[in-house]
Amino acid sequence: MVTELTHWIDGKHVKGTSGRFADVYNPATGEVQAKAPLATVEEIDAAVQSAKAAQPAWAAVNPQRRARVLMKFVELLHRDMDKLAEALSREHGKTLPDAKGDVIRGLEVAEFCIGAPHLLKGEFTDGAGPGIDIYSMRQPLGVAAGITPFNFPAMIPMWKFCPAIVCGNAFILKPSERDPSVPLMLAELMKEAGLPDGILQVINGDKVAVDAILDHEDIGGVGFVGSTAIAHYVYSRGTAAGKRVQCFGGAKNHMIIMPDADLDQAADALVGAGYGAAGERCMAISVAVPVGEKTADLLIEKLIPKIEALKVGPYTAGDDVDYGPVVTAAAREKILGLVDQGVKEGATLAVDGRDFKMQGYENGYFIGPCLFDNVTKDMSIYKEEIFGPVLSTVRAKTYEEALSLAMDHEYGNGVAMFTRDGDAARDFVNRINVGMVGVNVPIPVPLAYHTFGGWKKSVFGDLNQHGPDAFRFYTRTKTVTSRWPSGVKEGAEFVIPTMA
Ligand code: NAD
Repeated sequence: MVTELTHWIDGKHVKGTSGRFADVYNPATGEVQAKAPLATVEEIDAAVQSAKAAQPAWAAVNPQRRARVLMKFVELLHRDMDKLAEALSREHGKTLPDAKGDVIRGLEVAEFCIGAPHLLKGEFTDGAGPGIDIYSMRQPLGVAAGITPFNFPAMIPMWKFCPAIVCGNAFILKPSERDPSVPLMLAELMKEAGLPDGILQVINGDKVAVDAILDHEDIGGVGFVGSTAIAHYVYSRGTAAGKRVQCFGGAKNHMIIMPDADLDQAADALVGAGYGAAGERCMAISVAVPVGEKTADLLIEKLIPKIEALKVGPYTAGDDVDYGPVVTAAAREKILGLVDQGVKEGATLAVDGRDFKMQGYENGYFIGPCLFDNVTKDMSIYKEEIFGPVLSTVRAKTYEEALSLAMDHEYGNGVAMFTRDGDAARDFVNRINVGMVGVNVPIPVPLAYHTFGGWKKSVFGDLNQHGPDAFRFYTRTKTVTSRWPSGVKEGAEFVIPTMA
């Protein structure tokens, strides 16, 4: 049975009116299991108007009480963890333990946001001049919006709406049309946790909805996560409309393996970070850069049996499945096309997962793991983000060559180095032009109380996601200078006041 999904407006499920829908697949079977309504400009406007009407009363609730809604929300997420993970795996394809990780990484940001009363405190200068005090305060933007990708349908929506809402904003979430059920479930839980209607709206949609959000004059800020081309588009259109916009884009994360690294540890790290979630993570490692021929030979020798032993399967096959199908037939085709291209361009396909078939799931979007060796800088598999279970090995002669590979790549989301040499690690951390850096850590995703964001083409705009930056992004600073009569001199002043 194909379920017709809804929007979530004003605390209720609302049927779509456009007559346009996106098919939502079960990637393990290839069956359409739901259809998501694609919003019209009028539906976006209705959601914004309801958000705008509800927001002032919410902003007037004190921060401690706003934070208590998130406290309750965290409790409800734990209560419904299995249900959320199942819905997530059914639409995304990732394994159940990984789906729970997706929920928990979002929940951890909700926990961080419970500190809002502290994080929203302003600054105060007593006696900045005679009888003069200066203070600053953080005020919400009003209505903010978030546009999120398919690959973390629980975590990234929560990274957006938890800080925005606790800062006193109302929030319009436009999740990915490929896996929209979990965001709707999160909205139901926020209501159950005590959030007033209208403060969180979930609108399903495609480019029409995104453009309506970017052009809407009552939306003050937009946070986007997705591919680089769309990130750039959203940033340009949103800022042209005068909004505050932050957009997080694609990635090609390198891991440098130094000759002194523990190669067993490095190989395990590469397998987990390269193939977990079928490589559909913006912090996946997609390029291994062993330094020196001997390191490369040993590493490939260790990697091959580990990769060949990976268990690929549907989320229903148990917790020992390492990764599931990719999200859609189109994603599968694109990934396989790039693997073919890599072979054509002369890379060595050391492990070939192209013909993988999952027995009983022949229509699912499974791809066996692929490992390339002898990849060079000019190949498409090196330049492009593949976003699939494909790891490319580029052999570097020296540390400097390995470092410049990562530095010259257009993306700068994450990077890692495996070494036992503290001096080399320190040099790497200081010189690398990438936003999130791991030393002997393959997926250096910062925890909720630090901030998340890349450099170069992996980001447009400033201020990162979660951590203190999220509170800066979703608020405006107002600075007040006050003087009381005892400090006022007689007579008008015509010269700009200075402290001279
Ligand atoms: P995507 O760019 O296809 O979609 C992201 C969002 O943009 C979705 O909500 C989608 O509906 C919307 N969208 C798609 N096409 C559009 C168009 N033409 N105009 C306006 N809006 C449009 O990305 P995806 O495939 O869902 O997600 C995978 C990508 O996201 C990868 O590139 C990955 O690296 C990136 N990602 C980045 C981060 C990060 O923090 N840097 C995190 C997760 C994912």
